Amino acid sequence: MPAPDSKQPRRIVVANQKGGVGKTTTAVNLATALASRKRVLLIDLDPQGNASTSLGLPRSERGAGTYAALLGSHPLPDLLRATKIPNLSVLPADSDLAGAEIEMVDLPEREFRLSVCLERAADALATYDHILVDCPPSLGLLTLNALVAADSVLVPLQTEFFALEGVSALTRTIERVRGNLNPKLALEGIVLTMFDRRNNLSVAVAADVRAHFKDKVFQTVIPRNIRITEAPSHGLPVLLYDIRSAGALAYIELAAEFLRRERRLARV
Ligand code: ADP
Ligand code: MG
Repeated sequence: MPAPDSKQPRRIVVANQKGGVGKTTTAVNLATALASRKRVLLIDLDPQGNASTSLGLPRSERGAGTYAALLGSHPLPDLLRATKIPNLSVLPADSDLAGAEIEMVDLPEREFRLSVCLERAADALATYDHILVDCPPSLGLLTLNALVAADSVLVPLQTEFFALEGVSALTRTIERVRGNLNPKLALEGIVLTMFDRRNNLSVAVAADVRAHFKDKVFQTVIPRNIRITEAPSHGLPVLLYDIRSAGALAYIELAAEFLRRERRLARV
């Protein structure tokens, strides 16, 4: 149990059941940009471990991580790792995480494993301002655990034809989680990713998403940018790989907007 006066970090889950929409890129680079002003923990909940790789932890160097925490074999604080970025730690995805989805099915309170881990570690986690969770591309038990443990969901949406169609399954899941497992779960917002302003379809989809979700959509749009694609293979967030790239600048702007919105919410 946390000390009664300890301030807990806000927990923001980056989710979308579609793969390749920019979840990991957004989780890693938003976390990196936030870390210039805040203390941030990134939890890698995707068995592919791309967030861990992007933060300089290749598979061979990861050791125990999210799986060990969820299955309860290690206390979560023992599993946290520093990154090259000051004020940014990571709970890496261990190689066993792929099995967790199946193994957790038979465990008691299977939807609450992450939530319980975080509560137990509350004292150690009170040093953070934000916890970001990178989810796998599915609405399975891992993503469900993240949604149950979260204060809010951030949804990256690729500006392409089926963008809105994919998001309705996610909004239904969010409503279901709100209905019975986590009533306080909020929608942090939608981030348009891989935007190409020369592409009419990209522009039309962005307009459609804004018409539908209104001010839930971040003003900041992440452009399609080659530096973003290159950065992970160097084990770096794009902010460290090429700080002047359009991709890095967009994520810095996204973090600033994120903090502005958060301050506005805190006031009301
Ligand atoms: P997800 O986590 O949703 O599966 P990723 O963040 O891994 O998606 O992105 C999928 C691929 O697209 C990765 O190779 C990533 O480097 C690339 N990518 C993501 N965002 C952009 C962008 N804005 N511009 C160019 N490439 C991007
Ligand atoms: Mg990913």
